[in-house]
Amino acid sequence: MRTHAVAIVGSGPSGFYAAGALLDSTDPPVRVDMFDRLATPWGLVRAGVAPDHPKIKSVSGQYEQIAARPGFRFFGHVCLGEDVSVEELLERYDAIIYAVGSQTERRLGIPGEDRPGSHASVDFVGWYNGHPDYVGLDPDLAAERAVVIGAGNVALDVARMLLLPDDDLRATDTADHAIEAFAASGVHEVVVCGRRGPVEAAFTTTELRELDHIDGLTPVVDPAQMPDAAGDENLPKAIRRNVELLRGWAEAGPDESAQRRMEFRFLRSPVAIVGDGEDGPVRGVELAINRLEADDDGRVRPVDTGERETVECGLVLRAVGYRGVALPGVPFDDGSGTIPHTEGRIEGRDREYVVGWIKRGPSGIIGTNRKDANETVRGLLADLATGAREDATIPEAGDVEEWLSGRCADLVDLDGWEAIDAHERTAGEGGGRPRVKVVHREHLMGLIRK
Ligand code: NAP
Repeated sequence: MRTHAVAIVGSGPSGFYAAGALLDSTDPPVRVDMFDRLATPWGLVRAGVAPDHPKIKSVSGQYEQIAARPGFRFFGHVCLGEDVSVEELLERYDAIIYAVGSQTERRLGIPGEDRPGSHASVDFVGWYNGHPDYVGLDPDLAAERAVVIGAGNVALDVARMLLLPDDDLRATDTADHAIEAFAASGVHEVVVCGRRGPVEAAFTTTELRELDHIDGLTPVVDPAQMPDAAGDENLPKAIRRNVELLRGWAEAGPDESAQRRMEFRFLRSPVAIVGDGEDGPVRGVELAINRLEADDDGRVRPVDTGERETVECGLVLRAVGYRGVALPGVPFDDGSGTIPHTEGRIEGRDREYVVGWIKRGPSGIIGTNRKDANETVRGLLADLATGAREDATIPEAGDVEEWLSGRCADLVDLDGWEAIDAHERTAGEGGGRPRVKVVHREHLMGLIRK
């Protein structure tokens, strides 16, 4: 039986889980070419997961095993829509899977959102993780207080990174430019604002609990914001644990000797990011004070009471969720920021499939992508089995590589990535760090060409 060829666009967790499931197939056998617009694979595992979470990042070991399997190739510095088109890939592959994640931010749509000193968490996270698109962000960390908008795990990540002790930070693979900026930072207090209450917050308990173990950091919660403990037993277990933790901090009160404070302020929606004039730097965030109301369907929503308060700060990080970006030549639903599909088969298209955040929206943990990718691959393999493409003339793997080399001056293959990886890990050894990231394209290419 002919070995079928599948292109996967995007090399984050969902792309790798899809690759693994495809390479498991023996009937028909499948080979996989994975593309990324960056030189380096692993998507959010490299450029999104907080650097002080090495355990979560260690999932990359699974992706290395998949990459080492026969039939797998990686091609970095290949951008769909710039270097290659959908039509060109369809001429060379039996199927395409889009695994590009959610590459931008959800907007707040409030005045002052783009003032200097107000950053989307997508950019800030990319900056401290050494994502080449964001190395130039250069956030001003001189202010004593920062405000983080949002009550999810990304909000916690950015708040924690701002308050992490220098020694802890220096043991991570945080990009060097960010380590130096954090070391010189004046930020000692971060106010994390959730528009609903502690019960509705999207934090996971493991991430919240971690705050108890960070040297010199005290979590701060106003007891008046906590719901009555009598209602705890009716809460789902995961939420109950969050509420108990937050209540514990509220009852204990802040440790006044701590050098750094992370305050949780609930029932607050930003209505404006304020500063001098229209585009002066951030001086504060104006917050609407909310009450909660249950909809007919039981969803609890925030309702503006009309009351306002302003928190003075010099830095705002907006962590209200990610959003997908349309790919040239691929259907896109602007409302949800995803590619419309049925069980991973893209609507109105043959031979095009989708996995991960660009399929289901920006939610879930890394492992969620395995089930998600399996669903898509099941459909894809079933479609291949119908034999619709049995007579297709798919070029040999070698011909495809030659075509790509002609297209992309800085093409990076698996050997190239392995050279980068080895260099980074070796560079980290002296300082007890997992790696020292290389962030500039010329430097990355220099490592490959030498
Ligand atoms: P998220 O979990 O969806 O949280 C987004 C937060 O922003 C929610 O609190 C949401 O409040 C709030 N929000 C949305 N629109 C808002 C608005 N207009 N004004 C004020 N607040 C607004 O998203 P995320 O934090 O970006 O995380 C994405 C996914 O990655 C999640 O599944 C998360 O668990 C996962 N993740 C996991 C880890 C980890 O496991 N360590 C780390 C990072 C991320 P409402 O609830 O009221 O909408």
